[in-house]
Amino acid sequence: MTTNKDRKEFAVTSGTELRCPSWREEGLLRLLENVLSVGEDPSRLVVYAALGRAARDWDAHDEIVAGLKRLKANETLVIQSGKPIGVLKTHAKAPKVIMANCNLVGQWAKAEIFYELEKKGLTCWGGLTAGAWQYIGSQGVIQGTYEIFCRIAEQNFNSDLAGRFILTAGLGGMGGSQPLAGVMAKAAILVVEIDPERIAKRIDNGYLQHSVTDLDEALALIDNARAKGEAVSVGLVGNAAEVYPEILRRGIVPDIVTDQTSAHDLVYGYIPKGYTVAQAKSLRGVDNERLMKDGIESIAEHVDAMLAFQKKGSVVFDNGNLIRTQAEKGGIANAFDIPVFTEAFLRPLFSRAIGPFRWMSLANCPEDIAKIDAYILEAFPENKIVTNWVRLAKENVPFEGLPARIAWLGHGERTSLAVSVNKMVASGELSGPVAFSRDHLDAGAMAHPNIMTENMRDGSDVIADWPLINAMAMCSSQADLVTIHSGGGGYAGYMTSSGVTVVADGTEAAEERLTLSLTNDTSLGVMRYADAGYEEALDEAAIKGIDYIDLHNE
Ligand code: NAD
Repeated sequence: MTTNKDRKEFAVTSGTELRCPSWREEGLLRLLENVLSVGEDPSRLVVYAALGRAARDWDAHDEIVAGLKRLKANETLVIQSGKPIGVLKTHAKAPKVIMANCNLVGQWAKAEIFYELEKKGLTCWGGLTAGAWQYIGSQGVIQGTYEIFCRIAEQNFNSDLAGRFILTAGLGGMGGSQPLAGVMAKAAILVVEIDPERIAKRIDNGYLQHSVTDLDEALALIDNARAKGEAVSVGLVGNAAEVYPEILRRGIVPDIVTDQTSAHDLVYGYIPKGYTVAQAKSLRGVDNERLMKDGIESIAEHVDAMLAFQKKGSVVFDNGNLIRTQAEKGGIANAFDIPVFTEAFLRPLFSRAIGPFRWMSLANCPEDIAKIDAYILEAFPENKIVTNWVRLAKENVPFEGLPARIAWLGHGERTSLAVSVNKMVASGELSGPVAFSRDHLDAGAMAHPNIMTENMRDGSDVIADWPLINAMAMCSSQADLVTIHSGGGGYAGYMTSSGVTVVADGTEAAEERLTLSLTNDTSLGVMRYADAGYEEALDEAAIKGIDYIDLHNE
């Protein structure tokens, strides 16, 4: 692939001057710039999760930018795994960009084959929000992590995490949200991270409080905060596969244990025990087999310690990085005794299509996000999850790149918010347009049998029709960007998901696009869970008048 080491500055664009024919293309261009500006390794186009890229290579990137700048009102840009392949004549209500990222045919959907194809420049992994230009920095998953901690507190600790100890690992693009989420939930949180540069980045962006290199020092900070019932976050330079067993050996039992290292990628992500970051990097592409073998062995020890903590009473959960799947391959037969966060804590919300919904100020204006925060507190006073979150986020979550907010909203709420914001853009109350998207990890948008759809009530865990239907529905609902991704852990074969972005530019046409896309998106989410037999979804469909055809109960 072509690299561009000279490109060191990855800034976002401010103001309302257009470089593209309309805000629909301009908005998407600004979102592409944004994922690079907040990404982990933008000179390699890597946004997060080891290899999650915004575009295939720099030539492809430049052609995407050129394509967006020349798109006519009746044209759609087509992108195949981060590479633009052409412009189609469509119509004014069609999406501006459609893409498919990292989709491999079933029998061939394996990590080894993905690495070969990636090396040949034939595909790239878009992660979830990297290739879809929807990533907003560590904030993107922070409410999810915070809500998990709150659910654990409700279920186990009298709704109070003060004085409680959370042990986790990984301070990358997504994992970097953990220390701030832990502090917002009032806990003492220790995050083990092998790469000191990642720790420094989280200190710099305000997501982490302390950086230490010594376990004793780390535990002293945690103990001190626990004794006072104070929240604290500590980043410890170390390998989780070494530190977790050592904490266990010392007889310390954290209240909550999880992990967000990039365990899904044994070559470009997870650093095996005994390796420095530089040693692992030097073997990448040179001796992948050795890295995979050592990574699996290391993860087996890492997960063995997590299971031992679980036996001693810690609340242990998998936070979506496929660590159990890898551990099982390494001989840990009971790795799946650890539950996944979605099934354990969030499924009742997803059943009502309540999930991570986000908006970004395309004019790069923090005051616009503050005005939307104020609107939410006024418009949704009875929604305690969202009002509590918005109050906390306003105080605690620093913006990275374009000012943005993420909040868990459901059917009807998303549409009503977006339409109101569109009116605020039209009236000039906001200084510029706002883009709306949601995480791929959303009710109707993801089939991932080891994360999103594990142990579905009707056994439909591996059915990938739902995200495909979702993407088709988003195209027919006039969304601005629609994408279908595969990959997830191991880059292939683990999941299929769809993504959607709609730009609120203050026009009537945008109001129609927002209404159709966002309403149909959450309708499908409710239908997916209703079809799997979840009462909350059947109830939501009945209350909200969602036209679900219930063949089970007829
Ligand atoms: P990333 O690659 O940006 O960061 C991973 C971090 O883990 C890096 O900083 C790396 O140095 C560190 N690390 C690797 N091996 C380690 C070890 N043995 N000990 C200590 N630190 C180690 O990845 P990310 O974007 O933060 O994502 C992390 C994982 O979470 C991925 O597997 C991703 O797929 C998954 N994920 C989950 C969710 C969710 O909703 N729960 C969302 C997105 C991503």
